[in-house]
Amino acid sequence: MIQIDGSEGEGGGQVLRYSAALSLLTGEPFSITSIRGGRAKPGLMRQHVTALEAACVIGGAECTGLTIGSGELTFRPGSVTPGEYHFAVGTAGSTGLVLQTMLVPLMLADRPSRLVIEGGTHAVAAPPFEFLHRTLLPVLERMGPKLAISLERHGFFPRGGGRIVVNIDPAPLRPIECIERGAFRAGKVEALVAGLPFDIADRELKAARKVLSHWPDHAFAPVQLPAEAGPGNALLLEAEFDHVTEVMSGFGKLGVPAERLATTAAKRMAGYLASQAFAGPYLQDQLLLPFAVAGRGAFTTVKLSQHTLTAADLIERFTGRKMRSSEAAGGTHLVEIG
Ligand code: AMP
Repeated sequence: MIQIDGSEGEGGGQVLRYSAALSLLTGEPFSITSIRGGRAKPGLMRQHVTALEAACVIGGAECTGLTIGSGELTFRPGSVTPGEYHFAVGTAGSTGLVLQTMLVPLMLADRPSRLVIEGGTHAVAAPPFEFLHRTLLPVLERMGPKLAISLERHGFFPRGGGRIVVNIDPAPLRPIECIERGAFRAGKVEALVAGLPFDIADRELKAARKVLSHWPDHAFAPVQLPAEAGPGNALLLEAEFDHVTEVMSGFGKLGVPAERLATTAAKRMAGYLASQAFAGPYLQDQLLLPFAVAGRGAFTTVKLSQHTLTAADLIERFTGRKMRSSEAAGGTHLVEIG
């Protein structure tokens, strides 16, 4: 049984989700202590319990210690059974992160799956729907499986209540290389507002425009969602290149001025645009697992994140496959695995 110290590396929920996914993929059981030990409020939160429950259901796994607040658990995988599943976080906990736990195991199953996941779709520290739809899944599809995702309802913090539907048509994973992102095609910035004063969108777009001043006026658009989807606000910035579309995001929060949130997100996009990297700061850790499972793979990215280093460490412990990274021209890093 692999022993994991959940406070090591990034020290958050990713350690747990990656361990569960790797355990389902390799058949290796694991036990983890100090769950989310690097976070201000350690232990399992509602969304982590849902992610692990989902892994147990699709993977016929047995898990002890799976309760809110728990700091330790053990996980013994069974065999992955594709099919139709419905999981509800019950808070604004991220639907994308529940998906992160199940996606790669189901991409390798022997039949298609359809997942309905309810919870947050646009909340801090997690991939928003648009990132999954426009950034992550199109890259994974190049490895073989067919993936479709739709947003049926937005879910913002703190209310949640969002819903995504994911269809996974599995295939063996083909190794791919994502080195060049190709030519820039278009940029787009959308400010979503639900049940909040609409001038928030205008203020965010104005602030984002100051940073991305070379993008044309028509690239910046406010989007008013039905009030019942809210209260909520998200800023989504999208850069489309020939071979990848990156989505950066910012999420409205009480006490954080709209201008500040927008400037931070736009600067993150500007940093990515100024590099020649394929993967931005969040895509990198999410590519490592499928690339490792395919046997090998390579991509260029911006500065390596702590999430990526932590994912690499877990992958090596479960599969023996190592990540190597080296600095390349134009502020990029080359990451190779396998
Ligand atoms: P953790 O903080 O350990 O729960 O892990 C968060 C996960 O969500 C990591 O895989 C991050 O790459 C991903 N993530 C966090 N923020 C974003 C974002 N704005 N866009 C896309 N992915 C994100």
